[in-house]
Amino acid sequence: QNSYAWPNQSEANLRSPICCIMGHVDTGKTKLLDCIRGTNVQEGEAGGITQQIGATYFPAENIRERTKELKADAKLKVPGLLVIDTPGHESFTNLRSRGSGLCDIAILVVDIMHGLKPQTIESLNLLKMRNTKFIVALNKVDRLYGWKACRNAPIVKTMKQQSKDVQHEFNRRLTDIITQFKEQGLNTELYYKNKEMGETFSIVPTSAISGEGIPDLLLLLVQWTQKTMVDKLMYRNEVQCTVLEVKVVEGHGTTIDVVLVNGVLHEGDQIVGTYLHHKEIKAAQGIKITAQGLEHAIAGTSLYVVGSHDDLEDIKESAMEDVQSLLSRIDKSGEGVCVQASTLGSLEALLEFLKSPAVSIPVSVISIGPVHKKDVMKASVMLEKKREFATILAFDVKVTPEARELADKAGVKIFIADIIYHLFDQFKAYIDNLKEEKKKEAAQEAVFPCLLKIMPNRIYNKKDPIILGVEILKGIAKVGTPICIPRREFIDIGQIASIENNDKPVDYAKEGQEVAIKIVGSNSQEQQKMFGRHFDIEDELVSHISRKSIDVLRDNYRGDLSLEEWKFVKKLKILFKIQ
Ligand code: GDP
Repeated sequence: QNSYAWPNQSEANLRSPICCIMGHVDTGKTKLLDCIRGTNVQEGEAGGITQQIGATYFPAENIRERTKELKADAKLKVPGLLVIDTPGHESFTNLRSRGSGLCDIAILVVDIMHGLKPQTIESLNLLKMRNTKFIVALNKVDRLYGWKACRNAPIVKTMKQQSKDVQHEFNRRLTDIITQFKEQGLNTELYYKNKEMGETFSIVPTSAISGEGIPDLLLLLVQWTQKTMVDKLMYRNEVQCTVLEVKVVEGHGTTIDVVLVNGVLHEGDQIVGTYLHHKEIKAAQGIKITAQGLEHAIAGTSLYVVGSHDDLEDIKESAMEDVQSLLSRIDKSGEGVCVQASTLGSLEALLEFLKSPAVSIPVSVISIGPVHKKDVMKASVMLEKKREFATILAFDVKVTPEARELADKAGVKIFIADIIYHLFDQFKAYIDNLKEEKKKEAAQEAVFPCLLKIMPNRIYNKKDPIILGVEILKGIAKVGTPICIPRREFIDIGQIASIENNDKPVDYAKEGQEVAIKIVGSNSQEQQKMFGRHFDIEDELVSHISRKSIDVLRDNYRGDLSLEEWKFVKKLKILFKIQ
């Protein structure tokens, strides 16, 4: 059967736009697809739609029929619309074509009862990254209390049928959601009020259950793409084709599902033989291909047809470009986490996310497919360089039990998630935890700065241990701090072993406080220092700092010291002649 319509009246010879559906889970993406497809099949006559591999094709004729109630001068210049069947960003990211997004336009589904959700925002970021325009389907309007169903009717007509209460409730929720989009830096507006298409994204209220707003959605998709994307949609003969999925089909071996964006594929084209037994097929379509050697195909990459004048090696080089372009994102220093994803597209999306300034996680290794032992081995190289990078971020891939076992043994962390943000959250929690641990370890080496004045008549014990009443003139006196007398030669008198403030033990005391401190010699070999012999009442006591102790302090306690206290560290640095 001939599954594509190629109307001769399409004056500009445009190809069909390709559309993808995205949004948070349960917003109705699948139902919306069913609705767009199903209602039509039932209405029979205006059919012609074909559910293809991974995509549904709507000929222009069909769209014209379904939108006639809108009385738009539905002059369709495109031959039809190809809607990708698998909703969600997984398929969107996978759909690449020559390094850019394959989808010409997207439908972003938002549940009117719930507004923007984490995956809505993730979808938005992906759309921004690919610079893909989209239309918001504000779905489930039928759930507004008191909604009167007008099956498959245009939205303006439907709205007029609703009670004041429903209209009011609708407007309230719409305004809320527009505000939420604004918070994401996006202007949105009801599509029939939108005077600045492009600058402002259009919202089409829909119900995937009763079909209200679906005609509006279809018409808007087609009108907008053919109006603003003429260049992109100009039909070209050169084959442009993207692999959607690689799978094994009984009786056919490994097959690939592809979207043919441009050009014509012929049976017998090198590597090509079509499953549905079309002799040839013209863009844009979703098709299944059987051929030899397909088990090595990677979802998300481009398919190339080798013409009779082409050099096979050149083509192979082009085919590798998709992968090469990702390799260039790897951190030059060789230090970074390992990143693994199911497809080239999702890998790219993850890399893009990790690179963004707010996240900024360096990557040292990338791979596609399940996490195996060899991947853990690669990650373990980092254990010696930077422990926190001995980590695999696994996006939507499985981890083999052997790999898991090895990772546990070696101390390699594997984080798995099917939402990019969750990977980040897990990794961040892990890093924060490591930092906290490091801080605890560092506590031994950090020396807080202090300047102490010995108070007369408060000499409780002259030696073993020294116990004195002191006033903190500057900085923080902390238990564990090494104390010295800054004469021409520094005299180390020991470490603060304890502090008492009004007879209560405390960990530290701050500028202006008067406390009693106990100082014990830090080195038992050395002669213990004594008040009245090695130092006296007019001597000031200071923390004995070093280059190392300053570094540790700065790396772990930067925020714990005030500006004034850091200035004092600087003064001590000069005193101790630290470079
Ligand atoms: P997906 O996860 O985004 O693909 O969401 P589904 O299409 O699976 O829909 C999730 C649930 O919401 C299902 O129970 C649907 O029947 C329901 N649903 C989807 N669209 C609508 C709608 O427009 N109105 C109402 N009332 N329910 C809907």
